[in-house]
Amino acid sequence: MQIRGETAKGTTDRRELDIERPDGTVETVDVSAKWSHLNDVLVAAIAKATAEGGRGQVLRYRNVVEDRPEPAATCDRCGVEVDRTTAYHQQERMRVGSASVKITAYYCAACSGVLHAVGMGESSAMAQRADNVVSTEPVTKED
Ligand SMILES: [Zn+2]
Repeated sequence: MQIRGETAKGTTDRRELDIERPDGTVETVDVSAKWSHLNDVLVAAIAKATAEGGRGQVLRYRNVVEDRPEPAATCDRCGVEVDRTTAYHQQERMRVGSASVKITAYYCAACSGVLHAVGMGESSAMAQRADNVVSTEPVTKED
């Protein structure tokens, strides 16, 4: 018997089995409490026990990961919460071990204004934390 499975890597929210009962109805059974992850080998064993117990046939299984909204982005300079769809941001690639990872830094409107004013807009946010950079902004403002 071939069981079709959908697997998700890492922590999953739910584990489900679709089981065709002897009366022909297909029931989705949540087995999350019993197993933390389903795979072909485990489900084959469950299917065997289910069939032998006369409780039907396991058709497929799912390791379900719920869609959840991404955590809010915060301004990389002052920490205020920003909307990542509209906020000014910079992207760069950083090496983490042997992998190259894309890093995105977001800035609130006020901070992006400051960064542009001091000419940091084009440079790396990660390398030059605003705190470490001497501001080239004039101390006195001329109107
Ligand atoms: Zn800010």
